[in-house]
Formats: sequence, C-alpha cells, structure tokens
Amino acid sequence: MSKESIVVCGSGIVGLACALGLTRGGHDVALIGPRQALPPPAADVYCPRVYAISAASQQFLAGLGVWSMLDAGRLTPIEAMEIYGDAHGRVNLQAWQAAQTTLAWIVESSELERVLQQAVQVYGIRWHDDKFRELQAGTVLGESGQRFAADLLIGADGAKSPVRTAAGIHLDSKPYHAIGLVAHLNAELSHQQTALQWFNAEGVLALLPMPDTAEGHQVSMVWSMPQRLAQELQKLPEPERHAALEARLQAASGNRLGRLRVRSALLGFPLFLEQSGMIAPGVALAGDAAHRVHPLAGQGLNLGLADVQTLLRVLAEKEAYRQVGDMRVLQRYRRARAEPVLAMSLATDGLHRLFAARSASAAWMRNAGMQCVDRLPFIKRLLIGGASGQ
Ligand SMILES: Cc1cc2nc3c(=O)[nH]c(=O)nc-3n(C[C@H](O)[C@H](O)[C@H](O)COP(=O)(O)OP(=O)(O)OC[C@H]3O[C@@H](n4cnc5c(N)ncnc54)[C@H](O)[C@@H]3O)c2cc1C
Repeated sequence: MSKESIVVCGSGIVGLACALGLTRGGHDVALIGPRQALPPPAADVYCPRVYAISAASQQFLAGLGVWSMLDAGRLTPIEAMEIYGDAHGRVNLQAWQAAQTTLAWIVESSELERVLQQAVQVYGIRWHDDKFRELQAGTVLGESGQRFAADLLIGADGAKSPVRTAAGIHLDSKPYHAIGLVAHLNAELSHQQTALQWFNAEGVLALLPMPDTAEGHQVSMVWSMPQRLAQELQKLPEPERHAALEARLQAASGNRLGRLRVRSALLGFPLFLEQSGMIAPGVALAGDAAHRVHPLAGQGLNLGLADVQTLLRVLAEKEAYRQVGDMRVLQRYRRARAEPVLAMSLATDGLHRLFAARSASAAWMRNAGMQCVDRLPFIKRLLIGGASGQ
C-alpha cells in the first residue's frame, strides 16, 4: 500500500514545525508556502517579532531537534514576572515558587524560523514555493497551477487562512479594536530576567527581557492599546513618534527600568479573538488559521505548537485501517484541542475585559484580586504552570 500524502499549507513557525514533525513520524509530506530568505543574524540587531515560548513548547521544539540549533546568546530565559494593576494591584511570580528555573524563553521569530527551515532542508522535505489556491476533491491547486494530491490537508496558513475558507470551516471572529504595538527598547536598568506587565487605561504593556547590546540593557515592548491611541502614535512623523512613545512608556512603567529609548522600528498588529471549527473532511487547521487570542498572555504561538503536537499524537495513535483524513480521526484532534483553546481564550478575554472596564467596582475587584493572588502560594503555582504551558 502506498503511503498517504499529507500537504501542509503555510511556511510560518506552525507550518514548518508541523511538516517537520510529520516527516519525523514517517509520513509523506509536501509543504506549500512562500520561501522567504531570512537576513543572516547580526550582532545587536534583533528581529522585531519575539515570542515568549513556554516550557511545553520548548520541550516540543527540543524533541524536534531544533531547540539546540538556536543561538543560546540570543535567547533570554524569563525567571520571574511582575504584573501591575492600575491601583496598587500587584502579583510577583518567581519560577522557584513552582520548583522551576525558567517560566518561558524570549525567542526571535526569525531565529525560530531559521532553525526550522534548516531542519526541513536536512530532512529533505519537499517545500514548494507556492501558495494554496483551491481544493478540488482531495487535490490541492497552487497559485502556480501545480497540483498536489492530499489525503490530509493541514491549513497552517495564518489568520486569513485561504485553506479555512476553501474548506468552508466556520470562524467566530471578534475584533478587540486594539493594536499590539511592538518595538525593542534600550533600558537604563537591567531587567534581571524578569518580564514586566502593566494593566492600565492605555491597555496592557509588557516589557520582555532581551539580551544586552553595545548600547546597554534591552527589552522588547508589546503594548496592546486601544486602536485610537495606537493610531495617534503611528500617525506622528519621526522623531516625534519615538518621543511621544517614550513619554507614554515612562508614565506607564513608573520608571521601573529607568529611562526607556526606542531602538527599532515600531510595528502594529490588529488584535482579534477568533475560534474556528478546526476540521472538515480531509482538512485540519493549526495555529492562527484555527484560533487567535489576545496577546496579553503571550500564548498564541504556544497554542499553535500545541495544536501540532496534538495532531501528531492523534495521527500516530490512529487505527491502521483509518485514513489520515478520516473525520473520526480529525474529530479526536478537534476534541483534544477544544478545552485548552477555550480555556486560553476565556482567560485572556476575561482579563482584557476586567481591565478595560472603567467602573469603580471593577477597578476595586481587579486590584483586590491581584493583592489576594500575590499572597496565595497555591494560586501562584497554578499561574506559573499556566505561564509555562504545563
Ligand atoms: C503583538 C503580538 C504579540 C504576540 N506575542 C506572542 C508571544 O509572546 N508568544 C506566543 O506564543 N504568541 C504570540 N503572539 C501570537 C503569534 O504571533 C501567532 O500566534 C503566531 O505567529 C502564529 O503562527 P502561524 O504559523 O500560525 O501563522 P503565521 O505566522 O501567520 O504564518 C502563516 C504562514 O502561512 C503563509 N500563507 C499565507 N497564505 C498562504 C497560502 N495561500 N498558501 C500557503 N501559505 C500561505 C504565510 O506566508 C505564513 O508563512 C503574538 C501576537 C501578536 C499580534
């Protein structure tokens, strides 16, 4: 019997990890997605997109053989978190409180992609520099006109997922009317491997630890702010834009890291809460194609990598007489992902709403809640488990 073919659409981190995991699991895989040459890593130049990679994702990437290929000098372990409310609410989480050494790692998007691309090459995976256009009775049609037979088509083709649309998979989508602004900053004081987060009227500001540079200490900013505020900032010409951002940063961070200066371009990403049906006959979605969550917990990519891990397990455990695209098999995948994805969506959406509410009672509740959490070791252990994805 010939091996069944699996086509993975999407050459982002989720698609690359999926193609690699499936190939290592003995499947016949074709990868379809744009091949973008990554600039070689340069000292003191960092990719504007960084991710907080949970311990669970780190273990998965290590299992794929790619974690050890990352340049250790460009990774930053998070050993502690400080979370501030808008009125004295504060929670401190330390990895040792749950007998761990690291809560998560800050990794550049480009470096993860680079090592995954290298591994895809080493495994000789067929990577077609093409884009998904259509699905016709088990055959994938690329934009170049090429055809690919697919017993299972995996859509890891990002939030706009043409695979999802072609397969008629339902999507619930809610815009947050907010933008995630990202930039790297020079900081006067050392972050000491601590991730800092503030919830206030201007949204959720996170300062994530990054390697020091010749200019001194460095952090990466992820500021999820109301669309109106973000657009006001983005509209300003340089250098006023940086000056205005730095003034807002100083106020929001209460000088916790001393003076902060913008050292990179400022990028903005519109934020959505999205959940899809995840599967259709012969089709499964993974990553942002399947769901999106508010970035306040830094969990979107971690959820996508957990999708891949689950799909690999479900396919490895399927009965020999079932095909890879069998709905019974795919339903096991959807069921296994439903609860963790819903839990993350509810937690991040709930926190976003709690802090977006402007009433005095909501303000009292959130800050009193934070003080309370800060005094309860048991809850802290749970939160640390959540942050590390375990
Ligand atoms: C501000 C912000 C901060 C975030 N911080 C974190 C964090 O700290 N930790 C975390 O875990 N997550 C974080 N996330 C979420 C994370 O960015 C996403 O979940 C993750 O990038 C999704 O990866 P993906 O591979 O599913 O999709 P993408 O990265 O969007 O990749 C999709 C791929 O599909 C390709 N594609 C598109 N169309 C086609 C087609 N027709 N055919 C073939 N291929 C196609 C694209 O070229 C691309 O390569 C953050 C998100 C935001 C907005």
